[in-house]
Amino acid sequence: MSNYDVIVVGAGNGGLMAAANTSKAGLKTLLLEKHNLPGGCATSFRRGRFEFEPSLHELCGVGTKEQPGEIFGLFDELGAKVDWRYEDTMYRTIVKGENGYDVTVKAKREPFYDSMEEAVPGCREKVKAFIELNDKVDEALAYVDRKKGNPNPLVMVLKHSDFMRVCAHSTEEILDALEMPDKAKKILTTYWGYLGVPTDELNCMHFLSMLTSYMDNCAAMPYKRSHELSLALCDVIYKNGGEIRYNSEVTEFLYNEDGSIAGVVANGEKLYAKEVVSNVIANNVFTRSKGVKLPERDVKLAKSREFGISVATVYLGLDKSAEELGIKDYTVFIANNGDPRTQDDNRVNDGFYIVNCLNNVIPDSSPEGTCTLFFTTLIYGSDLPKDLKPQDYKKYKNDLAERLILDYEKTMGVNVMDHIEEISVATPVTFARYLGTPDGTIYGYKNAGWDNVIMRTTAQGKDNNVKGLSFVGGHGVRGDGYSSAYSTGATQGKVVVKKLKGDK
Ligand SMILES: Cc1cc2nc3c(=O)[nH]c(=O)nc-3n(C[C@H](O)[C@H](O)[C@H](O)COP(=O)(O)OP(=O)(O)OC[C@H]3O[C@@H](n4cnc5c(N)ncnc54)[C@H](O)[C@@H]3O)c2cc1C
Repeated sequence: MSNYDVIVVGAGNGGLMAAANTSKAGLKTLLLEKHNLPGGCATSFRRGRFEFEPSLHELCGVGTKEQPGEIFGLFDELGAKVDWRYEDTMYRTIVKGENGYDVTVKAKREPFYDSMEEAVPGCREKVKAFIELNDKVDEALAYVDRKKGNPNPLVMVLKHSDFMRVCAHSTEEILDALEMPDKAKKILTTYWGYLGVPTDELNCMHFLSMLTSYMDNCAAMPYKRSHELSLALCDVIYKNGGEIRYNSEVTEFLYNEDGSIAGVVANGEKLYAKEVVSNVIANNVFTRSKGVKLPERDVKLAKSREFGISVATVYLGLDKSAEELGIKDYTVFIANNGDPRTQDDNRVNDGFYIVNCLNNVIPDSSPEGTCTLFFTTLIYGSDLPKDLKPQDYKKYKNDLAERLILDYEKTMGVNVMDHIEEISVATPVTFARYLGTPDGTIYGYKNAGWDNVIMRTTAQGKDNNVKGLSFVGGHGVRGDGYSSAYSTGATQGKVVVKKLKGDK
């Protein structure tokens, strides 16, 4: 029998960050991962002479040594070394057809407003007012934080009225209230897919916080794919005496008689700890919990939540450089219609897709004279044809890849097909198998309606009632994405340290 202070289940971004924090604070920490390498989504894979980035398009909230954002700070305080690279163009967005557009939007406030004004003359002040709402929301949240979650309602109404007006509304409602021109609205909401919720359902504060984070800090990428981030956190865990066991799937969660967590089972071994931090979505924890009466509220919550969206991706290794092929952008969004609701309704068939060429930020991310392309399109696991047979799955993937590549070639006037040296295609089936998530969700739970980020934050004190068990990662309070997963990992790691060590 082994005893630990903390067992962390799953070495995704949230789990790694939690384990790095608990081990750094001196807690005896064990991290269990079902695969033979860390990272979950944050990893890399090889095909031939190419090492591909499987998930990260852009990381928000990083910043630099001189102007650190939240994520830079979290890595820095742990002593985790990352060679960050930055991209100062936010995105190029192309909507085809008669009322279409082709607009490139720059990062940083003034260049962003300039890009918007150039695309939609006269919209600058409205765009500025929209973006600056985020600053007012930040001020209000800082006040709520200072008051330890118990703000004076009068102060909220009188001093933070914009927050009160915005916080319960969708992005679309706020843009309409500002009378944003339709084209500006579409260009502004291009990034909705990064949260997987169309803007008529997506909380405005949530969207604004992501958008301004990319805008103010620029998108960041690690030099050696996201695997570099995961290895940097593993280093911290090892240096501080933590233990990581790979090929160690947790098959059961163990409980004490009073219903509190006792430990887990991996490879048939019972492992005990004072605290268990799960990077695994609650639904999978509960199905691995036997002989215990779980709190009704927690079970009801897990059962009633909607799973977030997944993606289909195509990774290409090309035998010519980006320059030779005429590929100039890092991130391009391509759609037939600029409306997020229509894009979500049409999803994989005719929604939108993103194409990234990492060589345009990190020129030597593939061998000299070559480049990589990474296509992403949104799809739910349940969108896959119900009658799809295993023997037809390969054709399904190839057809999907071919459609995206041909459309990209036509839209961008670039020859890709003749230069494909390596190709790999992933669907929700891949993500369900690799990450172990229900329906292959990569975004945890859908961050909308009664389960949006505001509601989750407000209900934090009431949810998760198994003593000693907590959750971190993309399915957590802040929702999906690298930065949210790291943030929940760090916050929960620190909560556990405080619980076990007090303020020592
Ligand atoms: C194609 C793609 C593109 C994306 N693009 C971006 C982007 O550009 N920017 C961004 O911010 N986010 C992006 N995301 C989302 C982001 O990657 C995720 O939200 C985030 O990484 C989730 O982290 P997590 O902590 O929830 O862990 P996960 O990555 O879900 O990892 C969970 C880990 O737990 C392990 N595990 C599962 N079950 C068990 C078990 N029973 N026992 C032991 N181990 C277990 C898994 O093997 C895995 O390692 C993208 C995701 C994908 C797939």
